[in-house]
Amino acid sequence: MSKRSLRDLPPQALDGKRALVRVDFNVPLKDGRVADETRIKAALPTIEYLRDTGARVVLLSHLGRPKGPDPQLSLRQITRDLERLLGTPVEFIPDPATGAAVTRRLPRGGVALVENTRFWPGEETNDPKLAETFATLGDFYVNDAFGSAHRAHASTEAVAHLLKPAVAGFLMERELRYLGDALDKPRRPFVAVLGGAKISGKIDVIQALLPRVDEILVGGAMASTFFLAIGFGVGGSLVERDKEDIAKTVMAKAGAKLILPRGAVVAPSLERAAERREVTSDRIPANYVVFDIDQTTRLDFRARIVQAKTIFWNGPMGVFETPPFDAGTRAIAEAMVEAGKRGAVTVVGGGDSAAAVAGFEDKLTHVSTGGGAALEFLEGKPLPGVVALEDG
Ligand code: ADP
Ligand code: MG
Repeated sequence: MSKRSLRDLPPQALDGKRALVRVDFNVPLKDGRVADETRIKAALPTIEYLRDTGARVVLLSHLGRPKGPDPQLSLRQITRDLERLLGTPVEFIPDPATGAAVTRRLPRGGVALVENTRFWPGEETNDPKLAETFATLGDFYVNDAFGSAHRAHASTEAVAHLLKPAVAGFLMERELRYLGDALDKPRRPFVAVLGGAKISGKIDVIQALLPRVDEILVGGAMASTFFLAIGFGVGGSLVERDKEDIAKTVMAKAGAKLILPRGAVVAPSLERAAERREVTSDRIPANYVVFDIDQTTRLDFRARIVQAKTIFWNGPMGVFETPPFDAGTRAIAEAMVEAGKRGAVTVVGGGDSAAAVAGFEDKLTHVSTGGGAALEFLEGKPLPGVVALEDG
């Protein structure tokens, strides 16, 4: 299900045209400025390409979860940072219903930013009327907001039916290539590394990956629920007691593909890190809590990762926000970089996982920007914002 991309449109045909581009500028703000520019930077290749071809670029995004117009969540706040990153003035359009004239006055290569799409009630209901309004702002449509593609909203789905061609931007294209093709037709061995807080949010991902991977390495709090299912004591660790049966089913199905940690780093509490110790997985003391994978497991996982040709990782191996419990997560990041040097395709997905590899991005094949969307995509669910684009 490959999709038509911006790359497939002849550049001459874009000259002077208004490109309506759905981006994901759902960025964290602090004191009215952008606190983390990652998502804006991720959209720059598409925006700069369009400007270079002489298109007029009209940007659409949501920001946060407003219940109607809310100055705290106005996209106007990001225009200054956007202007700095683009090196060009950005025209702000406070209301899409009256914005068409502004978009027509933009110079070739000019950029406009439309107010938060979620200020209008039709956005989240995928209202065709609001989509028609959005469609007056462009001559063709580009979706570069992979992180919003799992939602059928007016700016991601309905509008794609009204403005043609409707194509994938470069970021969207990369996400589809690395999460889709690379994991669908992986070079083997294909190893998945899964961790994080909960099994429940990831169970469908595990089920979807199982038939495709050679091994699944499990860490994080998720591993403790598997320990529980085996009958090991887990002390005060974060577990989902109601998911014990699901864990048992997964283990039975996975057989030797499922690799659990051999041991853990435990401590009485996060604050009492000085009292931490390493124990084997079957010896977790009653009043201790699992906060990371132990050294033996790091070496075991590393050996499996560096011999793989495709590695997908989602979910930290421990409470990586609180050193020293970041060591297991760092070990996985380093093993992935090493595997990459040996020619492997290395893909990271998930919000916290992306944060955990911050600074390493250049040494990995792909770090997905779409948390929820990436997981739904891996589960094999169709993403409405992608489906609505033209087939390539
Ligand atoms: P992602 O956002 O990459 O999908 P998750 O949200 O599933 O990842 O999980 C990240 C969270 O899991 C982090 O906040 C981390 O502290 C937590 N976590 C990992 N291991 C443990 C553990 N052993 N005990 C408690 N929390 C854990
Ligand atoms: Mg998370």
